[in-house]
Amino acid sequence: MHVLKFGGTSMGDEHTWRRVLDIISNYENPVVVVSATERTTRQLVAAADLAADNFSEAEEIAESIRTRHRSLVLNFLSDISLEKRENALSACSKWIDQCISTLLELLQQISEQGSTPAIKDTIASIGEQLSAYLLSRCGQAAGLQTTWIDATQVINTDSDFGQAIPDRNKIQQNIDLLSSTVKEQSIPIMGGYYGQNDQGQITTLGFEGSDYTASLIGAALGAEAIEIWTDVSGIYTCDPQVVETARPIAELSFQEATELAYFGAKVLHPSTMKPAAAAGIAVYVKNIFEPSHPGTKIHAETVENGWAKAITYLNDIIILTVTAAKSQEGHRFLAAVFNVLDNAHQPVNAVTTTEAAVSVALPDNRKVDKLEELLSNFGSVELEKKQGLISIIGCSFNNIETIQNHVLAGIPGMEPSLISYSKSKQNLNIALSETSLIPAVCRIHDLLFEKD
Ligand code: ADP
Ligand code: MG
Repeated sequence: MHVLKFGGTSMGDEHTWRRVLDIISNYENPVVVVSATERTTRQLVAAADLAADNFSEAEEIAESIRTRHRSLVLNFLSDISLEKRENALSACSKWIDQCISTLLELLQQISEQGSTPAIKDTIASIGEQLSAYLLSRCGQAAGLQTTWIDATQVINTDSDFGQAIPDRNKIQQNIDLLSSTVKEQSIPIMGGYYGQNDQGQITTLGFEGSDYTASLIGAALGAEAIEIWTDVSGIYTCDPQVVETARPIAELSFQEATELAYFGAKVLHPSTMKPAAAAGIAVYVKNIFEPSHPGTKIHAETVENGWAKAITYLNDIIILTVTAAKSQEGHRFLAAVFNVLDNAHQPVNAVTTTEAAVSVALPDNRKVDKLEELLSNFGSVELEKKQGLISIIGCSFNNIETIQNHVLAGIPGMEPSLISYSKSKQNLNIALSETSLIPAVCRIHDLLFEKD
């Protein structure tokens, strides 16, 4: 059994739908997870945000989603025989109208009573409810035996709307729904990204959550492989949209891929690797536009290349530096600072410390002012805003000094606001002003991966 996940770009139009169905038809026992069609989730979230103050604009967005899906289906079915086309068209139109009616009702509810995280999640899930059903129905018209599966019947989560945590035990109990469909020689097609809590309310797993869904069900099914199909031929040495000369990496360890995703490479949801690693199932990243390319294999093994594997970056970082007040003892000072961060549930991207000072790189958010106030009890606090964080992943310890020299050579005359190396994670992090970020990423990529 193979779990195949197709993202928003793969779900873009009738041409990519044909590619997707063609790829699916080459597998013996596939289980399919799809994202919403391109742009739809963002539009749904925007409509939910607008509905309270500007209902008519929210309504327009809903109508544009209806029109786009209608024409996608119509275009897809244009070369299908008349009878099959009519049946599929009528089923698809009914489904689209039903989903858009629900959407309009929910938007109306927001405009009258205000929004809640629960309503927002239900609205955000409509993209996948549309795409999975429609692809399944169009697949049938094209001759594949498919079954649409509503993700709420498989993915159980807690009630942390927007970033719900899946309940692996319950997913395991539900998984028969998918395996029995496969046994009946049908291909299950399920929307990613959403599920439901114990009260039967729809929840979502966070942006790019469909990758996570694919990995959760792959692990529960004990699948042979989890394949993330997208618009690039694997995980590259850097985002190929930023660095033209970036190239695909043949293999990465689960940890390396997680680090890469966590530090900004948006090709995968950072939690994707967790269920796969726990179940010992390899994850592949492959390209629908170049299906014969092997892409990237992500597995348990770390294959050292004696150098570094990839570069990635994050925007909108704050460097917060606390310098200990004279009265503070070294070890107590560090404990106090990290206590404050821990109590605020503040994730930290990178850290450097001496006994007298600590610098942390944090995503910019509303908690920062409060943190500044709390930390000023232990010393003087300095904030550097609008920073970028560059991370070099998979750095070999044996060559770390040379790698660091290459990185510094890539930012001549600039003073980084933080440098840190984690031996256990094999990451080198370097923070600098956001305005210099992209040129620095390009130069460092060139120095590390272009020249031997
Ligand atoms: P999907 O819609 O299939 O989920 P995404 O847009 O989420 O696709 O992810 C694919 C995109 O990720 C690529 O087009 C690429 O621009 C971007 N990306 C960022 N970093 C990397 C990287 N290191 N390797 C490959 N792609 C990357
Ligand atoms: Mg994605």
